[in-house]
Amino acid sequence: MEKKNIDWSNLGFGYIVTDERYVANFKDGAWDEGCMTTDANIVMSECAGVLQYAQTCFEGLKAYTTVDGRIVTFRPDLNAARMKDSCVRLEMPVFPEDRFIEAVDKVVKANAGYVPPYGSGATLYLRPYMFGISPVIGVKPAEEYQFRLFATPVGPYFKGGAKPITITVSDYDRAAPHGTGHIKAGLNYAMSLYPIQEAHRNGFAENMYLDAATRTYVEETGGANFLFVTKDNTVVIPKSDSILPSITRRSLVYVAEHYLGLKVEERKVAFTEVKDFAECGLCGTAAVISPVGRIHDHGTYIDFPSGMDEMGPVITKLRETLTGIQMGTIEAPEGWIREIK
Ligand SMILES: *Cc1c(COP(=O)(O)O)cnc(C)c1O
Repeated sequence: MEKKNIDWSNLGFGYIVTDERYVANFKDGAWDEGCMTTDANIVMSECAGVLQYAQTCFEGLKAYTTVDGRIVTFRPDLNAARMKDSCVRLEMPVFPEDRFIEAVDKVVKANAGYVPPYGSGATLYLRPYMFGISPVIGVKPAEEYQFRLFATPVGPYFKGGAKPITITVSDYDRAAPHGTGHIKAGLNYAMSLYPIQEAHRNGFAENMYLDAATRTYVEETGGANFLFVTKDNTVVIPKSDSILPSITRRSLVYVAEHYLGLKVEERKVAFTEVKDFAECGLCGTAAVISPVGRIHDHGTYIDFPSGMDEMGPVITKLRETLTGIQMGTIEAPEGWIREIK
């Protein structure tokens, strides 16, 4: 398919409408067969469950052009499985995992002209999501649902290199113990908007959330998991039931152990030990891993030895290896790369 006339290297991280998206509807207890559509708009009841009580969840993944010109997605099976978990927790019907992967394939294929070329730094972002579409006024699950999946090309997350950011310890909580922090629910983001805007107003790029119960352990940011590196090159990952299980972070752990031969510890991380780490990064699909140089904590600062000019050496290696796997320059573990044919 001919590439669209887009200035790939100047794309931002925004929504651009593409040609076709996938839609399936759940009605009378079953999913219909689903179809591709050119209609980017949704018409629904003014009383739809999603509009009244936020019954919705989503996923995020990317399609890449590899060095040899193939179009691939990265571990879409894990997005399918995670969406299943989100649906169960929100009393929504599960969209079958094999159909989820099929929908990803179809949407990428139909919008192949929007998959940015290798080397541009841009990618095709894919957004699967589901929501309650039938009217709900008493608080209960909707009876009918829609699953959709659209694609939008996004630019390199870091323009002109990945500069370390400064984040701030938040006085707000992201997720309650036994709440919904471990699923990708829209509601987790709605309530994070005020804290993130406040962080921005105060000059910080992101919030570091601590555990809501004791405010002593590191959880994550509004949309990315933490990864720390100790001074003797051990990778440390915070463990908590209210952290969203990032696919990027889980993949980086594998890369650290199996490609770089590093030791990895997944455990509770007390905020008091953060000052002793050598490197800090934020993991997620959007940026793969973005370096944190400095953490603000109520008027005092933690400065990582890696500094504010560039990424630390271990995070650089992790990032280069994982992006190499995604772009086909480094051999991938079995089952990580799905070619769109
Ligand atoms: C989506 C998300 C992440 C990153 O997950 P990936 O699967 O790596 O994209 C991290 N934290 C939160 C809260 C998220 O919603």
